[in-house]
Amino acid sequence: VSPVIDRVELSEFVRRVLVPREAEVERTDAIPADLRQQMSSVGLFGWSVPATYGGAEVAIGTEVELIMELGWAAAAFRSLVGINLGVGSQGIVRFGTREQKARWLPGIASGATITSFALTEPEAGSDATSVTTTAAATATGYVLNGSKRFVTNAPLAGVMTLIARTNPEKLPGNRQLSAFLVSMDSPGVTVGPRRELMGQRGGYWADVELRNVAVDRRDLLGAEGEGFTVMLSLLDRSRLQVSAFSVGQGRRLLHESLAHSSTRHQFAQALSDFELVQAMIADTYAELCAMESMVRDAAARLAAGESVSARIAATKLFVTEALGRIADRTVQIFGAAGVERGGVAERTYRDVRALRFIEGTTQMQQITIARSLVKEHTLNQQKEH
Ligand SMILES: Cc1cc2nc3c(=O)[nH]c(=O)nc-3n(C[C@H](O)[C@H](O)[C@H](O)COP(=O)(O)OP(=O)(O)OC[C@H]3O[C@@H](n4cnc5c(N)ncnc54)[C@H](O)[C@@H]3O)c2cc1C
Repeated sequence: VSPVIDRVELSEFVRRVLVPREAEVERTDAIPADLRQQMSSVGLFGWSVPATYGGAEVAIGTEVELIMELGWAAAAFRSLVGINLGVGSQGIVRFGTREQKARWLPGIASGATITSFALTEPEAGSDATSVTTTAAATATGYVLNGSKRFVTNAPLAGVMTLIARTNPEKLPGNRQLSAFLVSMDSPGVTVGPRRELMGQRGGYWADVELRNVAVDRRDLLGAEGEGFTVMLSLLDRSRLQVSAFSVGQGRRLLHESLAHSSTRHQFAQALSDFELVQAMIADTYAELCAMESMVRDAAARLAAGESVSARIAATKLFVTEALGRIADRTVQIFGAAGVERGGVAERTYRDVRALRFIEGTTQMQQITIARSLVKEHTLNQQKEH
């Protein structure tokens, strides 16, 4: 792999290779093998993996710029690489043993191994602490039983990071959760039928059933009882990655709004000459400026080692909600062509809706922000008195 980590080169790749195939991905509901190969050959799967394991090991500031460029293309492409760049690799990078890193990271970086992250269950969505999948200790490891839902890339994955409950009788609350690296070919792992979402055609989601899946103690990621810590530690970066992607989608929609409104004529004028259309374009641009600034600022603070969870939650909340408004305005500017199946405005309108759920819903971001601010305020008050 010779990774493309230059923004201009990546932007050229996105426009030359990915964008012309968007309609095909939408129509066939799949990313063709040759495209996946090309994505792999420019290193799209391995930006965040250490160089020792074949990744590009870019700093978070560079990574968000690259993801913004990737965000120019349809969401299905991010869906394919997103888990490898985020929660699928970063748990191993931070908590993995040398053996786990050597086993999984090279394939993750090259894209030969697609990863999944399995947390959500039928009764555990926003409330991650209510996971009921069990990991019962045996002499050599654990036996896993349970059901996971909406697991991105499960039908393609070679390995999944799974959150399960260990030792419920011995350990308190969140300390009962542990993370495991589960090879998808383990006996007892069954991937259900592909789930169809309203958007992101070409992406893969499925439920995963675990029936007496035996894993070795060496497959524990981090210490037993550290699963919640593993999850929390991945959130800042993965929320920032989704935010950066949202900026890319917003840039694309602004471009499409300008392209359409300047070439479509009504009342003997280009749409872009009408002030009411200009207002929509201006509002989109203003929100996009704010989105870009928030993502870059949060990335810089994260890189500087600041405690930024509330700021990243605010970023994720604002950019994904603003992107929804931008997508809606874009459809409006396109008129009937904006709701016609397969057009870029219609497709992106559907594609971006799920971004307000993944990596924590908008409401969970609000809760994170408010709790953090109230806690800080209370501490400051106590210091003063
Ligand atoms: C495209 C996509 C990809 C996904 N990929 C994965 C994956 O790879 N792995 C995985 O494990 N999961 C995945 N998920 C699942 C995702 O993590 C969950 O959808 C998300 O955590 C929300 O859970 P839920 O859908 O069950 O909604 P719920 O938790 O049932 O929430 C429903 C609504 O209630 C609100 N709500 C819930 N609790 C509160 C509260 N305390 N206060 C206020 N409002 C609240 C929510 O904000 C939301 O609006 C994916 C989902 C989507 C759409």
